[in-house]
Amino acid sequence: MKTLIIANWKCNLLTAKSAEELFKLLNKGLRKIRKAEIVVCPSFIYLPKLSELLLRRKKTRIRLGAQNCFWEGKGSYTGEVSPIMLKNLGCKYIIVGHSERRKFLNETNQMINRKVQAILSFGLIPILCIGETKEDKEKGKISIVLRSQIENALKKVSKKEIGKIVFAYEPRWAIGTGKACSSDEACVARLLIQKIIAQKYSQPTAKKIQILYGGSVNSANVASFVKDAGFQGVLVGSASLDPNEFAKIVKEL
Ligand code: PEP
Repeated sequence: MKTLIIANWKCNLLTAKSAEELFKLLNKGLRKIRKAEIVVCPSFIYLPKLSELLLRRKKTRIRLGAQNCFWEGKGSYTGEVSPIMLKNLGCKYIIVGHSERRKFLNETNQMINRKVQAILSFGLIPILCIGETKEDKEKGKISIVLRSQIENALKKVSKKEIGKIVFAYEPRWAIGTGKACSSDEACVARLLIQKIIAQKYSQPTAKKIQILYGGSVNSANVASFVKDAGFQGVLVGSASLDPNEFAKIVKEL
């Protein structure tokens, strides 16, 4: 299983030129990387240009991903973006259920489940984000929240399909706060996710799934998640906007 490093640019970089420049700098800094797959997830509107740049760079380790999509392939859904459109633009991955979408756009587990099914049905890889709030953590509800998010997001997802999903454990209180989870706490959450998958599918299936950590990852803490806590990669927000720091993160692995 290849280590995955996802760069989530969120709603940053306000011009196409700035997105293009950052992309070129990231690519330059990652030229010698062989061990990992790097997935850049820009705003939808920058995907065509970045896709064109990628096609010109045959040896790059970078792949494209989107930050969201709709659950239908096409039709009268004003303002939405189809997974097929994203596939046609060269995307391989789609982030789904990011906590900022759950929080600001009221995305429910049911909506997330429909998106997961759609992404899989169109041959793309969902990066399914799950994680508890600070309040859930304080009330000792991490396991209840993770179980509910996972079971609901995976309704109608077969044993064959589950192995195609990338899970991203992202405690909400660690996202964009500079306060990453400790590697011990993250490790417990990772084992819990595997247990939930084992109960729903099987033990061998649970052992094979790819689980990433996300939440204030930087070059100083990334090894504690991947080397110590057993995650098979990371989802990086803020630090992915700094090409030097991002290259350092990747080199730590
Ligand atoms: C994220 O965007 O999912 C994220 C983890 O952001 P940050 O690295 O800034 O906490």
